Amino acid sequence: MMLFRRSAQKVAARSSGIRTFSAAVQEPPVSDASQAYIDLEDKYGAHNYHPLPVVLTKGVGTKVWDVDGNEYFDFLSAYSAVNQGHCHPKIINALVEQAHKMTLTSRAFHNDCLGHYVEFMTSYFGYDRILPMNTGVEGGETAIKLARRWAYDVKGVPKDQARVIFAGNNFWGRTLAAISSSSDPTAFKGFGPYMPGFSSVKYNDLEALEAEFKKDADNIAAFMVEPIQGEAGVVVPVDGYMSEVKRLCEKYNVLLIADEVQTGLGRTGHRLAVDYDNCQPDILVLGKALSGGVLPVSAVLASNEVMLTLKPGEHGSTYGGNPLACKVATAAIEVLRDEKLAENSAVRGEQLRAGLNSLTGSTCIESVRGRGLLNAIVIDQPKMGYGDHGKAWDVCIQMKENGLLAKPTHGNIIRFAPPLTITELEIDDCLDIIEKSVKQVG
Ligand code: PLP
Repeated sequence: MMLFRRSAQKVAARSSGIRTFSAAVQEPPVSDASQAYIDLEDKYGAHNYHPLPVVLTKGVGTKVWDVDGNEYFDFLSAYSAVNQGHCHPKIINALVEQAHKMTLTSRAFHNDCLGHYVEFMTSYFGYDRILPMNTGVEGGETAIKLARRWAYDVKGVPKDQARVIFAGNNFWGRTLAAISSSSDPTAFKGFGPYMPGFSSVKYNDLEALEAEFKKDADNIAAFMVEPIQGEAGVVVPVDGYMSEVKRLCEKYNVLLIADEVQTGLGRTGHRLAVDYDNCQPDILVLGKALSGGVLPVSAVLASNEVMLTLKPGEHGSTYGGNPLACKVATAAIEVLRDEKLAENSAVRGEQLRAGLNSLTGSTCIESVRGRGLLNAIVIDQPKMGYGDHGKAWDVCIQMKENGLLAKPTHGNIIRFAPPLTITELEIDDCLDIIEKSVKQVG
């Protein structure tokens, strides 16, 4: 472990804000100020989330602060939306400058930002065309609509017979279409009836995918997949998975939709996670970090053949392609490119995993996985449901007490996804916090 760390004195000096906490399972009380905010959410908000008991008020770079003035490393980055770091000055400047000029025109009129944005994005990602939307799930919905339309107009699938295949354990949002493709009962149970024409095959299983394609090649419009499954617990497929998927899609005339809402934009140590396998999907879905965490911006990129099947009036969004989003997204991509954040993600990811791996065996960390700065530790505890409190929850509470914020997924998995601006020394500090926390939990 010491191989990856600076001296204990240096760590102690720089981490003087670290609080000590001895009772590993007993949750520490939150301050009155924090509790008041939590109570308001609890009383007047829907109970559709189960947050860690911390109330944040400020974020700069890799750090966030709570209402009591405590400082934390952000190891979630708003589910990889804040890849560029909190409140990146270049992105905030783009937001403020454009906000003073014009924010929204709708697509009923042209604006002087959209043209430059679509030219920039298509040339940066190597596609003919882009369709701007807002949230990640809208990006997924748009991709599926495009695939169905392409299937009818280009592939010749009979009316209403187009099928879309998804990878098992996918997560692409919470709309009815998204939950219709989900294999997680917490996501879909009690919300039926579900979208027809959807089915799934095991992730990271090329034989299963080909068998599915073979059975019904004439009616399959698309296969939609995350290059690394984020919400499923950072599940990394075998090397070459995406290029083999693409080969199969070509063989059976099926479109490949890559959902890079979480994995894209430097998160996995590459511009896109598909770059790792030298794969060019037919339809690329981006979101989250496309605005650097500033506002909801998503995008779907595709070829002329696919995109031009849509005609005026057949799809859209009031806010999609608004001037503010265009300026913010352009700045967000420029930051990733100019600050070489994908490259930093690759190197810092190696450092983080090496440090975490050295903790397996002697602590409750059972295993470590990930690519770039999309990583997860698996905690040695029985698998639990959403919101259940096991050892992984205790580790997250303990890390919070020690100055690092992360959240369990699927009970026993903790995702580690800091902003991609994180430095070598900061990773060292974070490894110290993680080590201390897992040892306190035992
Ligand atoms: N796709 C993936 C891979 C995601 O991880 C998410 C959200 O976590 C989405 C789509 C949905 O994005 P949004 O929450 O912006 O709708």
